Amino acid sequence: MKRNLYWKGFAFAAILACALLLAACFEQPPVVPDGNEAHIHSFDTWEVTKNPTCTQQGEKVRYCACGEMQSGVIAETGHSFGEWVVTKQPSCTEQGESTRYCACGEVQNNVVAETGHTFGDWETITEASCREKGERVRRCQSCEYYLTEEIELLAHQYEVTADNRPTCEQDGSLTQTCTLCGDVKSERVAASGHTWTGATCTTPKTCTTCGVTEGEALGHSSAVGKCARCGQTVAPTVHLPSLPTECAMISFDEVLSKVRVTSIEYTFEARELTGPGFELEFTIAGEKTYDRKGVDGNTYVSLAWKLLDDEGYVVRSGQLHVFNLAVGDKFKGETFRYTVYDLEPSSSYTLVLEDYK
Ligand SMILES: [Zn+2]
Ligand SMILES: [Zn+2]
Ligand SMILES: [Zn+2]
Ligand SMILES: [Zn+2]
Ligand SMILES: [Zn+2]
Ligand SMILES: [Zn+2]
Repeated sequence: MKRNLYWKGFAFAAILACALLLAACFEQPPVVPDGNEAHIHSFDTWEVTKNPTCTQQGEKVRYCACGEMQSGVIAETGHSFGEWVVTKQPSCTEQGESTRYCACGEVQNNVVAETGHTFGDWETITEASCREKGERVRRCQSCEYYLTEEIELLAHQYEVTADNRPTCEQDGSLTQTCTLCGDVKSERVAASGHTWTGATCTTPKTCTTCGVTEGEALGHSSAVGKCARCGQTVAPTVHLPSLPTECAMISFDEVLSKVRVTSIEYTFEARELTGPGFELEFTIAGEKTYDRKGVDGNTYVSLAWKLLDDEGYVVRSGQLHVFNLAVGDKFKGETFRYTVYDLEPSSSYTLVLEDYK
């Protein structure tokens, strides 16, 4: 019985202790002297038990006076890198490298971009001419790299150095020479061909450029007076001897005398009697210049004349007799008028004076 009582007392004490412990665990209100209130932990400051590193967490703990302990983690610090340091310089075309370190020994590498070329101005190596291209270069100021480029040909500077104009029938040429390189180029310039004007009464078909003629003149359409085609007065032409001219004669009594012809005048008159033709009337004037018998001589002179056609045939001839002239006497007039018929219009004739023997 006594033992049973003991167990009853022990059980009671144990239950009480448990209840107390349970109450403490639920953080009952502050402790009161009678010990009925629950205990509240009051922790000290955290104590670091393991320092964190750049990559690993650390640990910390704190205690309450009751012996309760709390533990916590301290975040890793992360790396703390220094400045980037270029370990390999980049070139124009190749990347470089840079590196930075953390105190923990962690290393980071990075690339440094290539710089690209830094070109200077173009420099001429060979000047271009009009015969050959030139060349120029542009160098990188940082490396050996360079670009080259052709310089285009210059244009020739031509000047005309020979100008053989074409004629109507023959080609010409134009030669030009480059003042820079002497290059010569010649071009054929085609003949221009004739520029014809039609035949007229008096001129054949003629080139106005070169004067060449083709065929014959049409001839006046009227034999007498005016040409129906061109309106021109149609008359033969007479060529006179150059004046003054001196003619001599020896008379039957063998006296020498001379006259000087100073003028010859002539007129034409158209007529249509036995066919188309002209009458030519000419008048000779002059003076007696010499008489062997002297100034009081009483001799005569005879002056022979001939009218020749354009082929040299005599159309008409005659004599001019001058009587009773003294040296110095002049003569002219009715007495010495001659008429020639049947002259061809458009033809030319020549009047010739001759010494009479
Ligand atoms: Zn506590
Ligand atoms: Zn680190
Ligand atoms: Zn370069
Ligand atoms: Zn040239
Ligand atoms: Zn011509
Ligand atoms: Zn005519």
